[in-house]
Amino acid sequence: MAADGGMHAEHGPRFAERAPDALNNPQLRRNFRRAMDGLMAKRAAQFPDPAYWAELRERGAAVKARALAKLPDLLERLESRLTANGVQVHWAETTEEANAIVLGILQQAGARTVIKGKSMVSEEMHLNAHLERHGIEAVESDLGEYIIQLAGETPSHIVMPCIHKNKDEISDLFAEKIPGLERTGDVDELTAAARRVLRERFANADAGISGVNFAVAETGTLVLIENEGNGRLSTTLPPLHIAVTGIEKVVEYLDDIPPLLALLPRSATGQPITTYVNMISGPRKAGEKDGPTAVHLVLLDAGRSRVYQDVELADTLRCIRCAACMNHCPVYTRVGGHTYNAIYPGPIGKILTPQLQGLDAAGDQPHASTLCNACAEVCPVKIPIPDLLVRLRREAVRPTETPATHLPPLYSTVVKDGGAERSWTESLVWAGWRLVYTRPLLYRMVTRALAWGGNWVPADAPLMRDWTKARAKPRFKPRTLHDLARERGYLNEVPK
Ligand code: SF4
Repeated sequence: MAADGGMHAEHGPRFAERAPDALNNPQLRRNFRRAMDGLMAKRAAQFPDPAYWAELRERGAAVKARALAKLPDLLERLESRLTANGVQVHWAETTEEANAIVLGILQQAGARTVIKGKSMVSEEMHLNAHLERHGIEAVESDLGEYIIQLAGETPSHIVMPCIHKNKDEISDLFAEKIPGLERTGDVDELTAAARRVLRERFANADAGISGVNFAVAETGTLVLIENEGNGRLSTTLPPLHIAVTGIEKVVEYLDDIPPLLALLPRSATGQPITTYVNMISGPRKAGEKDGPTAVHLVLLDAGRSRVYQDVELADTLRCIRCAACMNHCPVYTRVGGHTYNAIYPGPIGKILTPQLQGLDAAGDQPHASTLCNACAEVCPVKIPIPDLLVRLRREAVRPTETPATHLPPLYSTVVKDGGAERSWTESLVWAGWRLVYTRPLLYRMVTRALAWGGNWVPADAPLMRDWTKARAKPRFKPRTLHDLARERGYLNEVPK
């Protein structure tokens, strides 16, 4: 875990080193292309009226912005409301603390088996591995999560974790991992096989663990949406329910939920509403026939407070994890989620991961973008992702000892490991460029010399090689645009 308690740095090659493998994998690219095209079409069909879409996302953004503006107060209100409802609330500053809290609750209850609903925060915590190390078995119950757990993989998408796999790959996996199952390409049979295994797990689990989509401060209600019923079973069948969530999931009023529910499933899967909307307000009461007898909520910070301190970057915390940004991202749709080597892939990951992990571990991520703005156009809570990417690129190369004097006073320099990507070679090149660019005569002399000399540099020279691998070497013309413009009388005022 990161020393300051942010999520674990995912080790291994960086994005640029991993991308060629994904780009050269036609099966992976076909899987993603097909899936993303389908999701984009379904989402577009849900928002046929641009005026309605604009109004709805304005409301969604306003709800989340208001909640963030009052975040410390709302978290306290949430805690007191939940406590009054009988839910035990725990605060975790780091993922390590969150793991320890969950483990402690399970051990106190004597739990040996856990059934889990989908939760990206639990991925952030690497919770399953932590529990396994302490002799507790956690089984994922979301079908996609169950598949990747069987495969020993991590999610490649925050809503559809096994979107990188096709039916044949899943058939092979099930035949190998589910005892007694013959290989079948029939999707219904595959689903039924998973259901048989999971039903038995639901019935016998000592505890259920889930994530949270929204936590309502006004009423102390945990809102959890899903399509498979596994979330409801995980949170109602076992005698103990533990919910884990980031502190940014709090909203103020119950009335804030409808606009968010109108945006989230539509943006995520192109559904007007999910099959299940669970609202959990406490443990089973006397006389009730079902539900857990104990409910806990673990509120995780893990770097979010640091993000919150910066007025510009705090917009990141508005995210409702719909994944529309990744479904529409020309980079994500070509390389898939594993290429990012991070818990949160795609555009949201490119702004969230460097802030949670730090720019030393993930300073390359903001560069894995064309800044085409597709993500910002579809984001239901209007997060200006490209602006934040540019800001993080700047933070990554800023001299660490220099305060952000170019930014308004409210901006802070809280990004972890700011300046981590700064290289002295690059700094020297830019210092040289500034020297030349601010002296017109020197600029003209240098650019003419470079143009002349550049044509003599071979295409496979070390500095050229990366560029010419996929492109022709540019040829400088002997005469500049200014020369031509002047000759035609357009720029008579420009000095020679
Ligand atoms: S950044 Fe916006 S589009 Fe992306 S997951 Fe979050 S809410 Fe959805």
